[in-house]
Amino acid sequence: MISQNAIDTLRNTEIGARGLFIDGAQSPGTTGATLPVISPIDGRAFASIADGNAADVDRAVTSARKAFDKGSWSRAAPAFRKKVLTRLAELIEKHVDELAVLGVRDNGTEIGMAYKAEPLSAAGTIRYYAEAIDKVYGEIAPTAENVLGLIHKEPLGVVGVIVPWNFPLMIGAWKIAPALAAGNCVVVKPPEIASLTLLRLAELAAEAGLPAGVLNVVTGRGAVTGEALGLHMDVDTIAFTGSGPVGRRLLDYSARSNLKRVFLELGGKSPNIVFADAPDLKQAAVVSANGIFRNSGQVCVAGSRLLVQSSVYDRFMDELLQATTRLKVGDPLDLTSDIGAVSSAEQLDKNLGFVAKAGQEGARLVTGGERILTETGGSYMAPTIFENVTQDMQLAREEVFGPVLGVMRFDTEEEAVRLANSTVYGLASAVWTSNLSTAHRMVRAIHAGVVHVNTYGGADITVPLGGVKQSGFGRDKSLHALEKYLELKTAWIAL
Ligand code: NAD
Repeated sequence: MISQNAIDTLRNTEIGARGLFIDGAQSPGTTGATLPVISPIDGRAFASIADGNAADVDRAVTSARKAFDKGSWSRAAPAFRKKVLTRLAELIEKHVDELAVLGVRDNGTEIGMAYKAEPLSAAGTIRYYAEAIDKVYGEIAPTAENVLGLIHKEPLGVVGVIVPWNFPLMIGAWKIAPALAAGNCVVVKPPEIASLTLLRLAELAAEAGLPAGVLNVVTGRGAVTGEALGLHMDVDTIAFTGSGPVGRRLLDYSARSNLKRVFLELGGKSPNIVFADAPDLKQAAVVSANGIFRNSGQVCVAGSRLLVQSSVYDRFMDELLQATTRLKVGDPLDLTSDIGAVSSAEQLDKNLGFVAKAGQEGARLVTGGERILTETGGSYMAPTIFENVTQDMQLAREEVFGPVLGVMRFDTEEEAVRLANSTVYGLASAVWTSNLSTAHRMVRAIHAGVVHVNTYGGADITVPLGGVKQSGFGRDKSLHALEKYLELKTAWIAL
């Protein structure tokens, strides 16, 4: 783990103006325009990024296509790709402190979480796909004797990667690593409010020996650079994580351009269901509080709807309130803070809008509901719990993506299932029970990509992550994710 000394040495490092990363080198944007990088820790600008445009996206895609056609990566032996990607994982580990602090300055995640979830997790992901790629075989089809049916697995070409600001390095790596391992060339569009770590990743990749043009990064506003990538005629696939509305746009861009395939990891409104026979109510309350409030609730799988069985409701809520008030919100670069800053002033305003609406609609505020630490100039919000939430309220239906929990009661298992499945989302969920049969029935009954049992959150690279319903489609992580970046080609050979 990083030390407070190391953090304090790095927290004021000069970053300056960061360009795009195209064709293996830093490059200024075509227009020279920049966007300030404002830290949510104190509301101050500490760097700038290039405000890229469609011409910059075109330069990056052209560079990626040229590299792909050249074949020094796409047709290289998997063992070579493995070697370069393994070196990249090692370089990330070597720079882990620098990357962790840089990311926290950019998006405000508490350093304890960011350290593991960002650079260390990205290194692990890159190493995992590096290790996997020389174990992927083609197939021989069970045909008649007079023909040979061979099934080749080939890279797709140019992959566009668009990621959100909550964990840009981790989520970026979930897409970049399998795409590169499979032999594709990549153009990354980082989130405009947290681009710095992905730019640094591209530099480290070049240092690791990735050929020029194989990994490009174009910063800028989503509506400009993201749209240009989505509409580009020479991009074969878009791998996206972000909000539902932007996901819909990407499907539209695909339809209006070259029918590129689109994979969408979108939002959630994940139910966390506590039965009266939960093995340890106190422990369930502590984990549930962390499951919604860590990273200020800016976690796609956050357990934002808590369903508690009536017979233990009062006891559980008491434990939950205690666990919540123990969480210390503060400077994300202070190791004693449990929760850091909300990613931006705009996101904080949005969260407070949800709070106001929940109050108007009749939910009861149990704790929080306000901006705190205003004297810092940063964006901080108290962990917020509402009870008496009903299914028709905004808080029960829409994703806040902030530290706001809505609580409901239920009596029977059927009622819990009905409430759990009553949103348009289906990303994550959890069930707390000592009864094995209840647990398995709930795993089957809940419409979600992930069902936790007697825990919340936590997973590793070996298992897929993704949603059903309007939480999107396609899976990040695990060997299954490789399939998104490989094309099947049949060779039908008369013998
Ligand atoms: P967002 O959709 O606003 O932005 C995501 C990315 O899309 C950013 O890089 C942004 O610049 C880009 N973008 C914006 N407009 C675009 C456009 N018109 N065309 C193309 N690209 C565009 O989401 P956000 O606010 O950055 O992130 C929060 C959302 O991400 C939440 O809904 C959250 O649930 C979701 N998320 C999902 C997962 C998951 O694995 N399912 C993980 C993390 C976050």
